Amino acid sequence: MTKPAILITGASTGIGATYADRFARRGHDLVLVARDAARMEALAAKLRTEAGVSIDILPADLTRADEIAAVEARLRDDDRIGTLVNNAGAGLGGGFVDQTADAITQLIILNATSVARLASAVAPRLAARGDGAIINIGSVVGLAPELGMSVYGATKAFVLFLSQGLALELGSKGVYVQAVVPAATRTELWGRSGADETKLPPMMDVDDLVDAALVGFDKREGVTIPPLHDGALWDGFDGARRAMLPGFGATQPAPRYAA
Ligand code: NAP
Repeated sequence: MTKPAILITGASTGIGATYADRFARRGHDLVLVARDAARMEALAAKLRTEAGVSIDILPADLTRADEIAAVEARLRDDDRIGTLVNNAGAGLGGGFVDQTADAITQLIILNATSVARLASAVAPRLAARGDGAIINIGSVVGLAPELGMSVYGATKAFVLFLSQGLALELGSKGVYVQAVVPAATRTELWGRSGADETKLPPMMDVDDLVDAALVGFDKREGVTIPPLHDGALWDGFDGARRAMLPGFGATQPAPRYAA
């Protein structure tokens, strides 16, 4: 049986290019999406030769509505695509008071809007056929306001929530949704977002990150946090969240808010 093709955003370098390498070597045809067509073509040429798969390049700037629409159309119409890897993303240098409203808007479009739009384009087709997968790349920053990257973290909290929600909505229809939650990983992202080279944190190797994320994928894990060694901490955190849910049905304010 032919393996489903995989559309990967942000596939020109870093985590996305590493996913492309791994899925090609698993025998999947690919559709690579990013802005830098020459870089994707070089990667595709290498993987076509080494893995013998078919690879299409779909250059797109995922901050532009018309270019997001072209990727959405491909996801809606190309029946061969069975998995979407929503990986393209960027950081934003400086603190909130230094960031312009336009830069914040562009970041939200890339890191959050395009992620939701691409998932929305592919989900109905996957749900109708009863299989397929959506992998969304979040970040531990989305769990850690303490790190001082408020807007970037907010976009990644969005990605985590969207993934958890879609896992519940689409899981019963046979579609697997995974949130991958990396911490600092050695890629170009840091330089691109203007990070001070002398103040970079210790980094995970991108190969280790993606290989670990794929172990989570193969286990059909909902939330995969490669750097978190004590997995029970996540279970406890998620358990505390679930424990609040029945209380949200209260119709009277809690006594501590008595006027
Ligand atoms: P990277 O090396 O900078 O790669 C980012 C990828 O996204 C590139 O392929 C880039 O390609 C693409 N991209 C950037 N802006 C784009 C745009 N406007 N339209 C289309 N594609 C665009 O970063 P990375 O570390 O691999 O990041 C991948 C994902 O992991 C991101 O969502 C990031 O937030 C997340 N993440 C990274 C880290 C880390 O420490 N590296 C940690 C946690 C989460 P072009 O420039 O060719 O468009």
